Amino acid sequence: MTAPHDFVELKKRLGAIHDLRMANELLSWDQVVMMPAGGASSRAEQMATLETIAHERFTSAEIGQLLDRLAAYEQSLPHESDEACLIRQTRVDYDKARKVPTELSAEMTRVSSLSRNAWAEARAKSDFSMFEPHLVQMLDLKKRYVDLFQPTGDPYDVVLDDYERAMPTAEVAAIFAELKKAIVPLIAAIAERKDRAGDACLHGHFPKDAQRAFCLSIVKRFGFSDEQWRLDPTTHPFATNTGLGDIRITTRYYEDFLSPSLFGTMHECGHGLYEHGVSPSLERTPVCQGASLGLHESQSRLWENIVGRSRPFWRCFYPQLQAAFPDQFREVDLETFYRAVNTVQPGFIRVEADELTYGLHVILRFELERDMLAGRVQVKDLPRVWNERMREYLGVDVPNDAKGVLQDVHWSLGLFGYFPTYALGTIISAQIWERALAAMPDLPAQFERGEFSALREWLRTNLHCHGRKFTPKETLEKVTGSKTIDVGPFVAYVRGKFGDIYGV
Ligand code: ZN
Repeated sequence: MTAPHDFVELKKRLGAIHDLRMANELLSWDQVVMMPAGGASSRAEQMATLETIAHERFTSAEIGQLLDRLAAYEQSLPHESDEACLIRQTRVDYDKARKVPTELSAEMTRVSSLSRNAWAEARAKSDFSMFEPHLVQMLDLKKRYVDLFQPTGDPYDVVLDDYERAMPTAEVAAIFAELKKAIVPLIAAIAERKDRAGDACLHGHFPKDAQRAFCLSIVKRFGFSDEQWRLDPTTHPFATNTGLGDIRITTRYYEDFLSPSLFGTMHECGHGLYEHGVSPSLERTPVCQGASLGLHESQSRLWENIVGRSRPFWRCFYPQLQAAFPDQFREVDLETFYRAVNTVQPGFIRVEADELTYGLHVILRFELERDMLAGRVQVKDLPRVWNERMREYLGVDVPNDAKGVLQDVHWSLGLFGYFPTYALGTIISAQIWERALAAMPDLPAQFERGEFSALREWLRTNLHCHGRKFTPKETLEKVTGSKTIDVGPFVAYVRGKFGDIYGV
């Protein structure tokens, strides 16, 4: 059946909107990678203009009429076809976008830019009271946003849906409760045997150029190519793209500490591989991207941790690392290095947390966000509650607001509902790995030989190619065989790995 004229028209309009959004991605990449500081105010205007045009075009009555007229065509198509998925997904996005009054989204943009500045200043001075009135204001706007959707259950469902569509809060809470139950005693047991691992060898002197060359040599084995990818330095690393053939990842280099560039680059490469692997048939449409933040993070975590912190991986790369930094690693054997990159060390800072304690940082934020939205915790009490729970979950005493409640930018931007996706991604990564390993038991042997294409292509076929055609849960089912996020494989993975390292 040839596509009706309305479908051709819808695709044409969505294609133009996609172009506007990709142009904004490029401006945003440029802003934090290339732009001199003096460009900040004009860049903010340019990006707001492009976003406004894209938003107006997307929420126009014409798009709604096209979607209505295409309902019968959609019904006639197989559920899994690109066309049906595009219409279905666009309708969900459209209905959601139409519910938010322009006045409210403009107010959120305005407040978030002021609030972000206030947060940066408050963090620099380690003084939560400077940020408090801005967070109160942001929270009020977020509550107004939640009310637009008349949630039947938990108000948190609405904000979570922005990043993990159709994922009920109660389900996340149950997953996190199970995670906490399994890892808190494991962390406590490891604390008794701290001397079994340490990361001293990762601190020293590592020239930037040598770090970059080594990181590139790794990601080129993963799938990075000079023709379609870029790797640039930035302050807060991220991955973006302007099309399937233009993938941009970023990293940061500390000359006195090797880990951030090494694992950060592998992490962002995982995000890049997901975007790069979306089916070309979906290009220039709103489904040409990862299915959710949780699934995205499952890819970055898989390459960074399950692959990049494994023994087989370092059996291949450690001799090369020793050759790149001979003074640093000549006297360090492979096992010591392997334990260094897998050292468990409860700390204050989420982004510096190890594989095991990371989840607790996320659970803390998830609980506080829910409590704030429901009015159970007042903004003014946030530092106290934060510090109490850090002590309870991780056994650490937070020394000041900068290292505590003010460490992350998310709340200043109104990004409530975002944090849980980090931990969900980690859990999903172990589920996916279990399936991949069952399908290809010799993957570890391949890694030892520096071969990663079988894993990458398996992920492309079972996950990446689908883009955002399906809901996150439908997508999860395609790659794991189950619609349920299951903590089991992650718990088994960390018990095996850290049990071996620490003898617990
Ligand atoms: Zn990530």
